[in-house]
Amino acid sequence: MAEPASRAVTIRPWDEANRELVANVHPPDWKNPEPADRYHLVVAGAGTAGLVTAAGAAGLGARVALVERHLMGGDCLNVGCVPSKGIIRAARAWHEARSAGRRFGGPYAVGDGDFAAAMARMRKIRAAISRHDSAERVAGLGVDVFLGQGHFIASDALEVGGAVLRFQKAVIATGARPAVPPIEGLEEAGFLTNETVFELTELPRRLAVVGGGPIGCELAQAFARFGSEVTLLDMMPRVLPREDGDAAEVVQRAMARDGVRFELGVEVRGVDRRDGAAVIRFERSDPKGAAGELACDRILLAVGRAANVEGLGLEAAGVEYSKKGVRVDERLRTSNRRVFAAGDVASQYQFTHVADALARIAIQNALFHGRAKASDLVIPWCTFTSPEVAHVGLYAKEAEERGQAVDSLTVPLSELDRARLDGEDEGFLRLHLAKGKDRILGATLVAAHAGDMLGELCLAITAGVGLGKIASTIHPYPTQGEVVKKAADLWRRGKLTPGVKKAFGVRFRVLDRFGV
Ligand SMILES: Cc1cc2nc3c(=O)[nH]c(=O)nc-3n(C[C@H](O)[C@H](O)[C@H](O)COP(=O)(O)OP(=O)(O)OC[C@H]3O[C@@H](n4cnc5c(N)ncnc54)[C@H](O)[C@@H]3O)c2cc1C
Repeated sequence: MAEPASRAVTIRPWDEANRELVANVHPPDWKNPEPADRYHLVVAGAGTAGLVTAAGAAGLGARVALVERHLMGGDCLNVGCVPSKGIIRAARAWHEARSAGRRFGGPYAVGDGDFAAAMARMRKIRAAISRHDSAERVAGLGVDVFLGQGHFIASDALEVGGAVLRFQKAVIATGARPAVPPIEGLEEAGFLTNETVFELTELPRRLAVVGGGPIGCELAQAFARFGSEVTLLDMMPRVLPREDGDAAEVVQRAMARDGVRFELGVEVRGVDRRDGAAVIRFERSDPKGAAGELACDRILLAVGRAANVEGLGLEAAGVEYSKKGVRVDERLRTSNRRVFAAGDVASQYQFTHVADALARIAIQNALFHGRAKASDLVIPWCTFTSPEVAHVGLYAKEAEERGQAVDSLTVPLSELDRARLDGEDEGFLRLHLAKGKDRILGATLVAAHAGDMLGELCLAITAGVGLGKIASTIHPYPTQGEVVKKAADLWRRGKLTPGVKKAFGVRFRVLDRFGV
């Protein structure tokens, strides 16, 4: 169906699912309400941080305005978590079908899948999920929803589409966008980012993914599983630089098995168009300066995120910012005491669950003189490759930098019956404990369902539950979640001091002697 000329927002393809999505999160016929004289709270940006802030504050009785220039739901719903996890799931199904013969004795799947159908499935689910973030539903919660670009015109006023919204407090929740480095010839050659890759309806035959962070790895693996010839390029010598080296290595090996090729330790210098292909020119760090080239059909950029601070009138509001984002203290207050910020625009932890948690802090501190601190949060995250890498708390190197002595223990997944039976035994759980104690300071889990399994450890850290309690908690057998119990048992065994072991030995010798 042709795209209507008058539609304010463009999402491709213009099918039923995307029409439903837009009708929910940027209705073309939406009429902004008459602004109130003064709002208790004005929120700029209706991604996760903005939606949670606005809905939460309205639920507590505040008069709230929410301003969104593009699609409500922000990155997570439209071009982030939701579509990426939708296609990762489809790619896993293709991978399992293809490998079932080799791994499980059948069935022996042959031929290609229908990429367009996999993308259509994702769009349909995304559209259905979008009802939750719809302008109509949020307005129904008592929030005045304004569609349009918002910008501050004073320290207590923001303008949107000619309407002036005066506020007692405001929250900036304008998020981030894909960073695009100045690479010669890139614009001319054309490239995808997370904002356009989910619009694809045809599988690229050769895909170059620039960036080996979580987004680059998740999408590189998914496209390889769909059947693209994927090459991942990165300046670093390995993928997932934030994670422990051996965790990243497990993921890199799994990706390589799925067909992803790696050009690591390279710097992209430029892109040319030659014979209908995009040719990436790069320079290697080893041997230093050696030149290389890679021909591909599409380039996907995943080289980091840039905070949305431009065009917001932050100077007019007296809000300090840098390229990294809006400057906030640990209570999320900006340099303007009326204005707070939450989510990707003000955090180094750019995750939906963090945006949600920061929004709750912003509500407390902005409206109720709260003293909640972002630095008190226990923040987990997960990279949804196969296997997944999930982490919470400290890494060993961070503990060392803080002068915090730790005991570390690692349990390989191959020690779990269920992981072996599932054919998912590549990975491990690593725990860092306060030296000589059972208090968990950090955990890294590499496992097929690491993100789902990490919850127990997040609770343990948040609630101060030590490994001793976990060791005496029965976990169902056979499950992969038992890995946490195994770690606790390992810790308990290690606790047996030579003195205690000797005493036990004496007791058993006595029992033997008397034939008991
Ligand atoms: C490919 C990808 C996959 C991801 N996967 C995960 C995942 O699996 N798990 C996870 O936890 N996180 C994931 N993330 C990160 C997650 O999407 C973000 O952390 C989250 O969306 C941040 O929410 P936010 O509200 O801070 O910002 P956003 O979602 O970016 O929302 C900001 C909103 O503000 C609007 N806006 C900007 N400027 C203005 C203005 N001047 N006026 C009005 N409106 C404005 C924007 O249009 C946008 O809608 C992923 C991200 C990407 C890109």
